[in-house]
Amino acid sequence: MQNPDTSHNKCSAVQLVRFGHYKVERCSCGAVHVAAGPVTLHLDEGAFRQFVQTLTVGIEQLDLLQAPHLRVVADDGASE
Ligand SMILES: [Zn+2]
Repeated sequence: MQNPDTSHNKCSAVQLVRFGHYKVERCSCGAVHVAAGPVTLHLDEGAFRQFVQTLTVGIEQLDLLQAPHLRVVADDGASE
């Protein structure tokens, strides 16, 4: 009898989300695949979360740059 779980070198991915040319999958090996067009990043979960946080802050900074009445405040939580 063959054990069906012998394909250690073959990953199977479950799609988490797809949005246009962007796609996120969770791989059976624990990696997260982030596909953006022809490029796929293979990240572990921690790296994936950091990646998402980086993108999120990037969006926030982009919005700040595009909102001329707002600007980045560098001081540490000091508000009047
Ligand atoms: Zn994998």
